[in-house]
Amino acid sequence: MTKGERLYEGKAKILYATDDPDLVIQEFKDDATAFNAKKRGQIAGKGRCNNEISTILFRHLESEGVATHFVRRLSEREMLVKKVEIIPIEVTVRNVAAGGISKRLGIAEGVVFAEPVVEYHLKDDALGDPLINDEHIRVLNLAPPSEVELLRSLALEVNRILSAFFLDRGLRLIDFKLEFGRHRDEILLADEISPDTCRLWDAESGERLDKDRFRRDLGQVEEAYLEVLRRASP
Ligand code: 5GP
Repeated sequence: MTKGERLYEGKAKILYATDDPDLVIQEFKDDATAFNAKKRGQIAGKGRCNNEISTILFRHLESEGVATHFVRRLSEREMLVKKVEIIPIEVTVRNVAAGGISKRLGIAEGVVFAEPVVEYHLKDDALGDPLINDEHIRVLNLAPPSEVELLRSLALEVNRILSAFFLDRGLRLIDFKLEFGRHRDEILLADEISPDTCRLWDAESGERLDKDRFRRDLGQVEEAYLEVLRRASP
């Protein structure tokens, strides 16, 4: 697979064209940002870990019938994916209060919700990915209502599958963020699924094994990513 021109560089990944117009290479970086890029740093080995963890999770989701952009892992940091038009809505699912919702609504971290809470955020770094609702999505023409309903049901399905996957490995899936893309007439789960985009707490000790270690200067950041990889590995 020939690596062509750089199509896009984000905070944690770079996308490259390939000789197949339908496929792109997603390269995972060690760069880390938080709080709307006000905090910047590097997490040694993060690119490799997130590539491997995302590979394992995309394969597992595919085996459970969820369509994803994943094609195959190419190298330590590179993954071959289907080229999609990213829908500019970040879909967040929360099982337990933490982070944004705790701050916004004054709910103590760790409070378990009676059912998963689905949120939509506008994918716009300059605006800090603000919370939006179905009406904003419709009126701003971000996605048709039928597509929003599909994103919601796919996100809840991913939540069921990944909550069980992680619990089997001694981890509680607290919350996570998904991105979806349009590919021909299909909606595919895109981006990555990793400790950058999920909150994962050890089921026994409650220890945080995710990007909150970087966001909150808790130390042992690389170790946390490696531990998630170790537990997720077959
Ligand atoms: P919160 O809204 O509490 O900050 O985030 C909820 C969940 O979605 C967390 O697991 C968080 O890691 C993930 N998340 C939300 N927005 C982003 C984002 O812009 N980038 C990344 N990497 N993760 C996000």
